[in-house]
Amino acid sequence: MAIATINPATGETLRTFSPFSAAEIERKLDCAAAAFQSGRRTPFDQRARLMKRVADILEDQKQDLARLITIEMGKPIKAAVEETLKSAWGCRYYAENAASQLADERIEANGRTAYVRYQPLGPVLAIMPWNFPFWQVFRFASPNLMTGNVCLLKHASNVPQCALAIEDIFLRAGFPSGAFQTLLIGSDQVDKVISDPRVAAVTLTGSERGGSEIAASAGKHIKKSVLELGGSDPFIVMPSADLNAALDTAVKARTVNSGQSCIAAKRFIIAESIADSFEREFAERMSALKLGDPMDETVSIGPLSTKQGLETLDRQVRESVAAGARIVTGGARLNGAGYYYAPTVLVDIPKDSPAYREELFGPVAAVFRAANAQAAIALANDTTFGLAASVWTNDEQEQSLFIDEIQTGQVFVNAMVASDPRLPFGGVKRSGYGRELGLSGIREFVNIKTVVHR
Ligand code: NAP
Repeated sequence: MAIATINPATGETLRTFSPFSAAEIERKLDCAAAAFQSGRRTPFDQRARLMKRVADILEDQKQDLARLITIEMGKPIKAAVEETLKSAWGCRYYAENAASQLADERIEANGRTAYVRYQPLGPVLAIMPWNFPFWQVFRFASPNLMTGNVCLLKHASNVPQCALAIEDIFLRAGFPSGAFQTLLIGSDQVDKVISDPRVAAVTLTGSERGGSEIAASAGKHIKKSVLELGGSDPFIVMPSADLNAALDTAVKARTVNSGQSCIAAKRFIIAESIADSFEREFAERMSALKLGDPMDETVSIGPLSTKQGLETLDRQVRESVAAGARIVTGGARLNGAGYYYAPTVLVDIPKDSPAYREELFGPVAAVFRAANAQAAIALANDTTFGLAASVWTNDEQEQSLFIDEIQTGQVFVNAMVASDPRLPFGGVKRSGYGRELGLSGIREFVNIKTVVHR
């Protein structure tokens, strides 16, 4: 994939970049190794001061940074501003908590003095997706820089200007050169970087295919990896739920980031007795959403981020309909420039169709019916993914059944699934392994060193 800015609202190529040469990559890796050696003993309060400056820059320049996000990947501008502010929140959270999260931990071991010390590993390579081009990077970089690791970013090829702007923010905040570096490289150059002895570990947020190739490369070189992959999150609504609140949230949860979020609700599993009214109301609310120019503050759905993304979604819907699914609203791409797809609701979805089996990365909701809570759980778990779930019920027994039986890394009860710097985030099954955020996230790329004194 060419490294380029192509505005998804118009299809126009605005800027192209040449991938780094082998010599440029070599220089960056040297610089990363040197920055790790000189910075790994920096006190937490010094790192925290710099990290808070990063947050200040994100907050002060939120409008300009948001414009860059919108131009490169089409996110509606209001949400792009929210993303820069959330990135600042993540930086402040780790600036304030890293010292206590990584403090020595005493353990009683037969009267001997034992403790665990958390130490940084070295340069960590992050391969990141375009859908939250700032938040995904800052939620990786802020805990790792606070730990004392240094960061190498291989961002998605369609957001190179975001990747360069992020590097610039860390430099302007005062982090030494080499602490955070962007590598403008294609995915074919990644294996070589992972294999380099100066690189300690790797994390990928993205597709299953990318994840499996990165994990294979990390395994081959015996390096720690974390994978944050796709999801096909269930959104279950039972008869005791507040239906109006569930409907409002269902629309938001399906169309967040124009439907291109790993934790967007994708499969709506509705109790039979309320399914007719849910489907009708849901389709009405989906079709009433304002779709258009993502620079317009009042727009809630923008274009999809790439032509390829639009074509994949279009194919998935067409194949699902050919297999027997029924369109209640939408079901087509929009004519004209830009990669727009109409908010869509599908019902009567057969088991062997893409809408049942695959992740739909756009504003297309798949609605299913379930006779009872057990049937809803069976449907929810009938997927290769296991990222998150949202369950709507005021029956406490049903709530605990869902919490226990749904096979995902996160369950939200009567609420929309959302990431939060304080809470561990990640999945099971083919949604990946390891965790970002919270205490778990900062302890992924550390040496957990056991120390015992006689
Ligand atoms: P993708 O194709 O895997 O791309 C993601 C990143 O991986 C890009 O930087 C891409 O580089 C790189 N990449 C892909 N294949 C690679 C390979 N074989 N070797 C090295 N690098 C490789 O993913 P996408 O389809 O654009 O992104 C959307 C996916 O990400 C969805 O499935 C979504 O659910 C998932 N996601 C998950 C989370 C989470 O936290 N679980 C969060 C956000 C998104 P190029 O751009 O150069 O190809």
